[in-house]
Amino acid sequence: MKKNNPENQQQFKLFIKELITFAFLFFTLGLIVYYLFQNSVYGNIDAAMREQKNRIINNSHQLPLHIQKDKDGSVAGVLPPERNASFQTNLIVFDENGRILNQSMLGERNFTLLRNTTLDLSKLNKIVDLPLASDELSAHFRSLLIKVPKNNQNVLYAGHYVLILQNIDADLLAINSFIEALIITLIIFWILAIAISYFLSKSSMKPIIKSWLRQRDFSSNAAHELRTPLTVIQNQMEYLLTKPKDTVMDQIKPISTSLDEIQHLKILTNRLLMLARSDSNIIQVNLQNTQLNSWFNNILTPYTEIASSQNKQLLVNVNASGNGMLDQDLIRQLMVILLDNAIKYTSAHGEIEVSINRVKDSLDIKVSDNGIGISNSDKVHIFDRFYRTDKSRNSKTGGNGLGLSIAQWIVTEHKGKISVKDNYPTGTIFQVTISLK
Ligand code: ADP
Repeated sequence: MKKNNPENQQQFKLFIKELITFAFLFFTLGLIVYYLFQNSVYGNIDAAMREQKNRIINNSHQLPLHIQKDKDGSVAGVLPPERNASFQTNLIVFDENGRILNQSMLGERNFTLLRNTTLDLSKLNKIVDLPLASDELSAHFRSLLIKVPKNNQNVLYAGHYVLILQNIDADLLAINSFIEALIITLIIFWILAIAISYFLSKSSMKPIIKSWLRQRDFSSNAAHELRTPLTVIQNQMEYLLTKPKDTVMDQIKPISTSLDEIQHLKILTNRLLMLARSDSNIIQVNLQNTQLNSWFNNILTPYTEIASSQNKQLLVNVNASGNGMLDQDLIRQLMVILLDNAIKYTSAHGEIEVSINRVKDSLDIKVSDNGIGISNSDKVHIFDRFYRTDKSRNSKTGGNGLGLSIAQWIVTEHKGKISVKDNYPTGTIFQVTISLK
């Protein structure tokens, strides 16, 4: 990811944020899964130990006859196996002084390991982990120390402490392999998260970058368009300052040039404002119930005079009976843009024709001229902001390339469509359809 421009920097920041979020989520998920798995393993072991404790406390066995207690209290015989006691379970019986009483029953090998246990009364009735190690052996246990009441039927346990030990080596092995599998899964998911974050950040930045670029182009084009008339006005004013004694009549040309440029600036700033407002959705379309025939005739009539003042002919054909809902200000602007262009890009003695037709609940507007026409390659771009064809730039029409963008926006706001096609043998036809509802 390139980090040189602000858009890429922003995308990189977004990528890092998404990656951190994913990493945090996966880590939390891993912790929860691990915690639940470990709890279920330990839960089973601990439940078995508590059961064992209950069996010892409620012991109904009589000490078998062959068990003989030595004088010192230790037992030489074999302890009856606790029912269901797992072979992984060991019981160590302590007297009050912490002496192991059932050493002989633990088996020599086991005892080398188990003798390391001590009577720790602080752990009484608590289930805790107990790792044990001797020279040859090492094992992990879960342990529970209990005190057996004196009246217990098992003479070995009665009045002593019994340490229940459950070997958990196999369970720890399972937990460790589970952790390994979990870590591998998390690493795979983190790698996936890098790819997903990259694509997410890229796709979510796309519209933002598009709008940034649009905004940037808009501002620089606007500045460029404003600079030209301002420079002309400045030059004319500076020139006038060099002729302080002249009358207005003497300098009518620079004055009228300046006024033309001011008019141009006025139109330009109005259009810029309109587009900026349309971008931020602050223009409210105000649909008014309009008597179509009379309203269109009214706004189009002045244009026949404007056209004839430029030796061009404007034919108006309005055939839209009844009323319809439209924003009069916006539709007037639309007509002004289309007619201005048609007159502007048609040479003297050219013909312009406007026809307005109602078709059920929609209105067809057609503005055709036999002017300079628009090439197919330009047709694709004429609705773009600030776009002007080379021909129109060269002919110094005073256009700014914003009219048709505004026209398109107005038509869209009226749930309509605007399109352009060639007129034959020369010229252009703009066709608009808008909804009247
Ligand atoms: P402008 O203010 O430059 O006329 P528009 O957005 O209204 O801006 O039009 C964009 C471009 O489309 C114009 O510069 C011109 O090249 C072309 N154009 C628009 N209308 C016509 C037309 N009736 N005949 C020929 N070219 C046209």
